[in-house]
Amino acid sequence: MYTFTSITNLQNDLKKGIVTCTALVEQHLAAIHAAGDLNIFLEVFDATALQQAAAVDARLKAGNAGRLAGVIVGLKDNICYKDHKASASSKILEGFVSLYSATCVQRMVEQDAIIIGRLNCDEFAMGSSNENSAFGPVKNPLDPKRVPGGSSGGAAAAVAGNFCQVTLGSDTGGSIRQPASFTGTVGIKPTYGRVSRYGLIAYASSFDQIGPITKTVEDGALVMEIISGLDAHDTTSSSKPVEAYHTQLHSGKKYRIAYLKECVFAEGLDPEVKANVLAQINALKAAGHTVEEASFPFLDYMVPVYYVITTAEASSNLARFAGVHYGYRSPHATDLESTYKKSRSEGFGKEVKRRIMLGTFVLSAGYYDAYYSKGQKVRRIIRDRTLDLLKSYDFLLTPSTPGTAFEFGKNSADPIKMYLEDIFTVQANIAGVPAISVPSGLHSNGMPMGVQLMANNFAEGDMMDIASEIKPLS
Ligand code: GLN
Repeated sequence: MYTFTSITNLQNDLKKGIVTCTALVEQHLAAIHAAGDLNIFLEVFDATALQQAAAVDARLKAGNAGRLAGVIVGLKDNICYKDHKASASSKILEGFVSLYSATCVQRMVEQDAIIIGRLNCDEFAMGSSNENSAFGPVKNPLDPKRVPGGSSGGAAAAVAGNFCQVTLGSDTGGSIRQPASFTGTVGIKPTYGRVSRYGLIAYASSFDQIGPITKTVEDGALVMEIISGLDAHDTTSSSKPVEAYHTQLHSGKKYRIAYLKECVFAEGLDPEVKANVLAQINALKAAGHTVEEASFPFLDYMVPVYYVITTAEASSNLARFAGVHYGYRSPHATDLESTYKKSRSEGFGKEVKRRIMLGTFVLSAGYYDAYYSKGQKVRRIIRDRTLDLLKSYDFLLTPSTPGTAFEFGKNSADPIKMYLEDIFTVQANIAGVPAISVPSGLHSNGMPMGVQLMANNFAEGDMMDIASEIKPLS
């Protein structure tokens, strides 16, 4: 049995012949199938993963394997992989097989990563607990009574449970960082435009970013180097050159960090989460960084603005799922209109319908100015003020989430309570800046806690550098 510690160590072990890709894939397949009750995988690509493993083993022998040779990767079910199904955990995409791979997947496969399966998530990435999947919730491998977070719950659980070495998730308002924090993993939301969205099933296009979930910051940095960069298929992807992030870690640079007082002293914050973030602040100071309190008095606007704009974008993006081009078509339809109505009514889950209705409402002629236009103005203010603060500081620090992974059903009856899970993470998506959640310590309930750092646009290198210095405090 091979114990994975990091991509770099794995590459050395493969070169030395301590392990082969085929053995690694077999080991992971056995573990995944034995843990089916966690409901992490929607599909395991046994056959294609073994084929890929044999091919990579041959390339390793020939000495021409890629930088991710043998790395076992899982994909959130909203990221497309050629000739494989993708459903965004929705019934409406039933039977859909992707004709192409997402650019980030293509780039990882070109570096000889092995794609082992698709991972459960909240339907169309809408949720914070994975309870909104059409295929049932994911259980947190650290405590199966608890949620793994969402929407990339399967992606975080797969890394935490050692079923994958790296996973790709998507983050629209915290969907990589919040589950990373709930499972003791590292989650990175890149700058908007750093990673191509081509092949990502869209939720809210001006917020969505794909990013990695990994065991360590080092692994996250390596994956970011490979998946980032300009892509002709996504006009919002940036042409800024991609840095060699993994060489920027543990630099010893001293940074200026602001912790946001409204977040660290927020009402409703778990007292142990608060104590933990204060201890991290002291540790950073002791390591020679400048850490100061700053005020960002817009916390009350974050979640409302997020839900006004993202639901508007979602209502438009999800219009394409109409029972015509792909996926589910209602057997009860009798004409074109009933095809649309019935396919959508039967195919979408409750939360997705709630958001489509909210989105069409805020975009409707009578309410557009009151909600959508106003939301855009508030978004601009939040973005500008965030960037203003980031002129004086390299990073903004907050807890990743107000509490730890909660038990199933705890927030289900009250959508607002569920939406508040994202209170600290949505700022980075509203502003477009990069952010990371790193494991910060264990709560007395046994669950991990995370701290979040937001950075300037395209300052992923520095952000991962400081994150590589943060160690969990108990
Ligand atoms: N939990 C948030 C939501 O429900 C964020 C989702 C995401 O980032 N995809 O919308």
